[in-house]
Amino acid sequence: MNWKSRLEKLRPKLAEKEIDAIFISQPENRLYLSGFGGSAGYLLITPKDAILATDFRYIEQAKAQAPDYKIFQISGSMANWFPELVGEMNLRKLGFEAGDITFAQHRQLSEIVDKAESKISLVPVDGVVESLRAVKEPEEIKLITRAVEVADRAFEDVEARIQAGMTEKEIAWELEKSMREQGSEAMPFEIIVASGANAALPHAKPSERKISTEDPIVIDMGARVGGYCSDLTRTVRLDISPLKEDRFNSIYDTVLGAQLMAIAMIKEGMAGKEVDDLARTFFRQRDLAEAFGHSLGHGVGLAEHEQPTVGPNSGEILTEGMVFTVEPGLYFPGWGGVRIEDVVVMENGKARVISKAKK
Ligand code: ZN
Ligand code: ZN
Repeated sequence: MNWKSRLEKLRPKLAEKEIDAIFISQPENRLYLSGFGGSAGYLLITPKDAILATDFRYIEQAKAQAPDYKIFQISGSMANWFPELVGEMNLRKLGFEAGDITFAQHRQLSEIVDKAESKISLVPVDGVVESLRAVKEPEEIKLITRAVEVADRAFEDVEARIQAGMTEKEIAWELEKSMREQGSEAMPFEIIVASGANAALPHAKPSERKISTEDPIVIDMGARVGGYCSDLTRTVRLDISPLKEDRFNSIYDTVLGAQLMAIAMIKEGMAGKEVDDLARTFFRQRDLAEAFGHSLGHGVGLAEHEQPTVGPNSGEILTEGMVFTVEPGLYFPGWGGVRIEDVVVMENGKARVISKAKK
């Protein structure tokens, strides 16, 4: 990864936001900009300087992983070290990540800068690094692809072994084992295995419920490779008779139809809400819009949910290199639900599907 080029992409944003420096506290943003993978620390970035502040546990790691940064050792509360960190820099307007800093941290920072002679004012900024992260570099796409492949293989391996009487938790554990055995890092999110009526809850937790032949089973899972996540949802049923004209098959075909159509219609330059609307309109025409209660998709990268948002209110424009999910779903309380999710990458103006798990 080219950390320096990321810093160079960030620096013009400081002027755009009319700030002299930005204080980065959000963990994935810290990793993205510096390469430092420790679990505690902050970055302070100005047009000239890049400083990584962390405590003694991580000093050696910081030096090794973030050679483009000056390392600044911190200990105790911000009041102990923040004045020294910004000491000679003569900052006027310091941006902080409004979506990440807690109220308590903000109060602490305000007290510190109010006391300082430097007359720093704190400026909330939002989404600056996140918008850089939304556009992936080729190396990032490679890692996401590997994470996608791990989840694909785990799904196909475990799906073939699901039997009536297994519990949701047992299936989730088999999936996790398979992904870990293939080299996945810790799960980016808790695997969802939701069967029968539980499948009507888009974010159900795996329970002790035993699977029976007629249940729709929603499986939502992701692996993590080199820090990068994948996100895959498949809905299956043990009773596979595709020609059977029943509710499951008809809902399944509708969701799959919405997904394939949306993926085919995605073009560079569309806003997130326009893409969301492709699937929503498809469902509305079939009187099913009420049963599709969530956004169509979200960006995937160092975080399992990141920019761009592909939802009804998203004005974010989809551009080359963005990686996001397309995951329509229909949910019916008491019966269950169907969701199908794949990760796509914007390439040559269109969406290319990365996931290959059968559906
Ligand atoms: Zn998912
Ligand atoms: Zn998702």
